[in-house]
Amino acid sequence: MKVAIIGGGASGLACAITLKRADENIDVTVFEKLDRPCKKILATGNGRCNLSNFVVSEEYYNGDHEIIHTVLDEFDAVEALRFFSSLGLKIRDEEGRLYPYSMNASNVVTMLLSEAKRLKVKIRTDCKVETLDSKLKINGKDRFDAVVLSLGGKAAPQHGTDGDGYKILKNLDIRYNPITPALVQIKTKEDLKELKGIRFKGVLFLREENDNDDSPIKFQEGELLFTDYGISGIPAMQLSGDVAQMTAKGEQPLLNVCFTPDLGLKDVNRYLQDQLDAGRKGSEILYGILNEKLADYIYKKNKGDINKIALDVMSLPLTATGTKGYRDAQVTRGGVGSDELNEHSLQTKKVPNLYITGELLDVDGTCGGYNLHFAWGSGIKAAKEIINNA
Ligand SMILES: Cc1cc2nc3c(=O)[nH]c(=O)nc-3n(C[C@H](O)[C@H](O)[C@H](O)COP(=O)(O)OP(=O)(O)OC[C@H]3O[C@@H](n4cnc5c(N)ncnc54)[C@H](O)[C@@H]3O)c2cc1C
Repeated sequence: MKVAIIGGGASGLACAITLKRADENIDVTVFEKLDRPCKKILATGNGRCNLSNFVVSEEYYNGDHEIIHTVLDEFDAVEALRFFSSLGLKIRDEEGRLYPYSMNASNVVTMLLSEAKRLKVKIRTDCKVETLDSKLKINGKDRFDAVVLSLGGKAAPQHGTDGDGYKILKNLDIRYNPITPALVQIKTKEDLKELKGIRFKGVLFLREENDNDDSPIKFQEGELLFTDYGISGIPAMQLSGDVAQMTAKGEQPLLNVCFTPDLGLKDVNRYLQDQLDAGRKGSEILYGILNEKLADYIYKKNKGDINKIALDVMSLPLTATGTKGYRDAQVTRGGVGSDELNEHSLQTKKVPNLYITGELLDVDGTCGGYNLHFAWGSGIKAAKEIINNA
């Protein structure tokens, strides 16, 4: 049997290795358009590669829950650890986030590629797949018995993923749900240049445009960072997929920043009053709780009105206008849904023996190793299906 895997990234390599381990006689070729495979993995986790998480469950994923369930059902954290161990990778646990023991992404790539080499997986680099027809012929030349689309999405095109997969899907008449960037910095309408570089621990709330209701759509707590275009940090990245989906529909969602998550409005008011009573003047009344530049900004914005200042400390309103886009994004939201796949399977309905893995599917995870976890799991799942269907 001849199998082609298009895309030498995380899911593609996991698929190739699983196929060859199951049956060494399967002829597996990985087509990679860059000069070497797994380039994106080197950039993950700030070069440390957060490759999975001890706590894996559906709640950490957005998108098509049927697909998420299909993959996670067979690939939990224990299976992930078994896979890494089979590659010879020792794992380090950092508060649930799993990394290679060396904390160096290059070790993950080395171990994946050395296993692929040992198993005689053919890897064709500098080999961009332009076309795939319904007879599973690649670039009008080589025909395969099964093909796996592991091309990734549109996020981080500098690592090889600039959306080729969607063109291939369109040509095969395979529908996919609208795509947007996710896990990316958020742009705001307000000019925050004077706050650029200020880091703080806080909570970021996401609300619908013109929302007078108190309940946010979502919120995230953690370290945030003001930038010249808006707001960054893990909580902002976690909410960015929703922001991107809303702004793509023409909405301007609201963000509220809480700088004092453990204090109530009354506490902040009392604190400010105490500072005034102690004779502190102007934005000095905020210097004991906020960065000075931030204090000056909030004081000036509210022209010294104590009640308004307290409200902004608890819930500074911002308007999201979009995100930094695919170039800065870690993942793509949207993609092929379960309606285009056979039940509990990653095989397409329209083209028999065509499978889809990784980010091309309508699944995206939150920060914490969930996207790579899904990539490994979906690659392994596709390989098992190919073997069962052979
Ligand atoms: C900066 C950054 C940091 C990240 N950090 C983490 C992290 O720490 N933890 C985590 O879980 N996730 C992280 N991610 C997300 C994670 O890397 C991806 O979700 C995952 O790699 C997706 O796997 P994939 O197999 O779908 O595609 P990819 O790993 O993106 O691989 C797709 C491959 O297909 C190739 N390709 C594309 N088009 C063609 C074509 N036409 N012909 C041939 N080959 C082609 C590409 O060159 C690429 O090598 C990060 C992403 C980025 C950009």
